[in-house]
Amino acid sequence: MAADSSPGLWRRIPLWQKIIAGLILGALVGALMGENAGIFKPLGDIFISAIKMLIVPLVFSTLVVGITAMRDPQKMGRIGARTIVLYLITTAFAIAIGLLASTIFQPGAGLDMSFDTPVESEEAPSLVEILVNLVPQNPIDALAEGNILQIIVFAMGLGISLMLIGEKGEPVVQVFESFAEAMYKLTEIVMAFAPFGVFGLIAFVAGNYGLEVLLPLAKVIGVAYLASIVHVLVVYSGMLVLLGRLNPVRYLMGILDALVVAYSSASSSGTLPISIRCAQKNLGVSEGVSGFVLPVGATINMDGTALYQGVVTLFIAQLLGVDLSLTDYGMIIVTGTLASIGTAGVPGAGLIMLSIVMAQVGLPLEAIAVVAGIDRILDMARTSVNVAGDLMVTTLVGKSEGELDLEIYNSPNKA
Ligand code: ASP
Repeated sequence: MAADSSPGLWRRIPLWQKIIAGLILGALVGALMGENAGIFKPLGDIFISAIKMLIVPLVFSTLVVGITAMRDPQKMGRIGARTIVLYLITTAFAIAIGLLASTIFQPGAGLDMSFDTPVESEEAPSLVEILVNLVPQNPIDALAEGNILQIIVFAMGLGISLMLIGEKGEPVVQVFESFAEAMYKLTEIVMAFAPFGVFGLIAFVAGNYGLEVLLPLAKVIGVAYLASIVHVLVVYSGMLVLLGRLNPVRYLMGILDALVVAYSSASSSGTLPISIRCAQKNLGVSEGVSGFVLPVGATINMDGTALYQGVVTLFIAQLLGVDLSLTDYGMIIVTGTLASIGTAGVPGAGLIMLSIVMAQVGLPLEAIAVVAGIDRILDMARTSVNVAGDLMVTTLVGKSEGELDLEIYNSPNKA
């Protein structure tokens, strides 16, 4: 706290260290103050609103600028295809790791928990529905509603058109360039508040979840966290090394800010501006690639959510003594992948989508109530993985398209 009273010292501490300090201090204060720690929640709420404020203008301007800078519509097509394939592969891996972890550690075996709250089943969106909804009828509506996929479609159309009209498009391109620059600055300003925001959010969560709620479910929480860490360290690092010939330690160092914000906010969409900043400033990914791959990922790539669905579905089957067949496992992988694509990047969305997977393998939806009480704790882990996955794929796509600045990527000094 002494740092607070001395701006000189405060400024000299790197941001990521201040954010981690906010996280640890928040957990301690929450544990000590219990529910009273709720008085710090407004700090977190202000921070979250400030980052959300950035999303639409930042994504829109970054993407327009990025596309016009690339000067190659075909390249956009290639980037799109690679992005989707990599997102699907990482999601399938994630859910398989979740299933494996629950099979090995059996978190639900021998537990006795009751539940009676009825839960409504959700439906996975159909592919046709997703495709039809991609095109906005009115771009201003899409911007106002924050419909990221529609915003991406419009920004791509505008960017490509500006590129095609050449010199005539220059004034507009310059306006967007200057606007995007201002949005980067604003992101930096908002990030300066991150240590306090993270502190407020974590103090609130830690104060609200006493040990009496957490302990009975400690094993499933432990399995979900362990599987998440393994997924990031093994699958993501492995893919970076094997497919990108990149040092995974640099990636992990570069995404730290985004990870902590994802963890404390439990919203991957909300973390998007921070992810974009990490990708560009710390990993060296170009505007065009980060401006496209990250917003798409924050909307459809939810590896952490998929992994969680694998862990929890098996946990509940074990709890109820239900034996699942190999076909059921296959079903969980397919529906879990689809359900995770349909999951919004907001707190708690994965819990609702869990009903799709549970219904598919015939488990009673009421059983979701068992994990609902501790969902925030699981949500924090899955959101961090969701964001880490988006950033890993962004790095790989950037590398494969020559849109990754290796000097920035390999630099040990991360912003
Ligand atoms: N909270 C997660 C996210 O924002 C989604 C989920 O609930 O699984 O990425």
